[in-house]
Amino acid sequence: MFEKVLIANRGEIALRIQRACHELGIKTVAVYSTADKDLRHVHLAHEKICIGPPRPAESYLNVPTIISAAEVSEAQAIHPGYGFLSENADFAERVESSGFVFIGPTPDVIRTMGDKVAAIRAMREADVPTVPGSNGVLGDDPEECLRVARRIGFPVIVKAAGGGGGRGMRVVQTEAALHHAIVLTRSEAQAAFGNPDVYLEKFLETPRHIEIQVLADGRNAVYLGERDCSMQRRHQKIIEEAPAPGLSERERRSLGERCVEACRRLKYRGAGTFEFLYENGEFYFIEMNTRVQVEHPITEMITGVDIIQEMLRIAAGEPLRLRQRDIVLRGHAVECRVNAEDPRTFAPSPGLVTQWTAPGGPGVRVDSHLYSGYRVPPYYDSLVAKIVTHGTDRTTALARMRVALRETTVEGIRTNIPLHLDLLADPRVERGGTDIHFLEKKLADELPR
Ligand code: ADP
Repeated sequence: MFEKVLIANRGEIALRIQRACHELGIKTVAVYSTADKDLRHVHLAHEKICIGPPRPAESYLNVPTIISAAEVSEAQAIHPGYGFLSENADFAERVESSGFVFIGPTPDVIRTMGDKVAAIRAMREADVPTVPGSNGVLGDDPEECLRVARRIGFPVIVKAAGGGGGRGMRVVQTEAALHHAIVLTRSEAQAAFGNPDVYLEKFLETPRHIEIQVLADGRNAVYLGERDCSMQRRHQKIIEEAPAPGLSERERRSLGERCVEACRRLKYRGAGTFEFLYENGEFYFIEMNTRVQVEHPITEMITGVDIIQEMLRIAAGEPLRLRQRDIVLRGHAVECRVNAEDPRTFAPSPGLVTQWTAPGGPGVRVDSHLYSGYRVPPYYDSLVAKIVTHGTDRTTALARMRVALRETTVEGIRTNIPLHLDLLADPRVERGGTDIHFLEKKLADELPR
């Protein structure tokens, strides 16, 4: 096992990774921007190195500085967390060529999965179901594009091959609107991702978002069940749960086994997530995330597997300890993402947290870097806490979540806790199985603006 790991991230995930390292007896190096010198994991690290000013481009995305920090501290491996450099194949390559271990898949796998068209092709070859679509990048001929769209059937969605974070997508309802939408998405994709390639998919009207968590060591792989992340606003997840309400054991196994097969073909290494849309009993692959996800704790709660520790073991070269028969799903878990934002307008609400009191009790887990007196900086994403509850069944997990949210106190900044409480009081949420448009429709219905 490693003796020292550098954590190339911040906030709750840096703290989470640090805890996993320390539990395994691994020393940690925290790298931080000047805005983050008071983060908890920075204080708790064995070594801390300031890597630049607040702007991510000058600190958390600054590859040469992060590599130098690893050199100076003599760390053996780098955990990238999520966001920032976690899915940057060039970074992974630099880490490895500088003699460190990148805690994640190989650079080529990251590159393949980062190109959505290449990822879809790889999934088809592995017999993972994908969304009916153009089967590749669209050419320049408008007539040909129209033929492809007609074959798929309207509405269609134009997507950037290099897109991410919910950007680079456009829904097209009519034939007349297709050409303009393609031209626009192409130029936006060139500007935002440096890659003008776009492709077409059937636009699914009422899908749920269901994803499969995997762990793999380059040879063997296991799936850790699924998560339902349909509660989204602007493609940002806000509540996740595991297992997905109403999914049968047969569906879970069949999809899980295909993902495992895809991992074997890709020689996948590390933790990964296959994301699917689910509609009328069918799954459609949309993308794979080659890193740990924000919502990994709910899977940990129902499987008892520490995903970050397994990532560390795999990166250190240990063979996967888990066999599929070891993975038993117990009970139900829910995660609410607490964001520093106005619960109605969603405007970011950074600033001084004058009071933070975390909830507790059986089956309650809080992943957060908050403390009373902490100042939420305006430079980074607004996630400040993940409240996770677990119970023997969904009803219990939801009841615990309501209690936990009411127990939580965050003063000084605004958070979306009122929105969470509102959602958890909705009988449709109580029933389960709402689709990815549920939240936006509910907001539009209830808060006419
Ligand atoms: P990103 O990498 O930007 O997250 P995804 O391909 O994962 O992009 O898509 C993000 C979200 O966009 C999905 O979770 C879903 O809400 C919506 N979406 C993507 N593809 C489709 C589709 N074919 N039909 C309907 N909605 C889609």
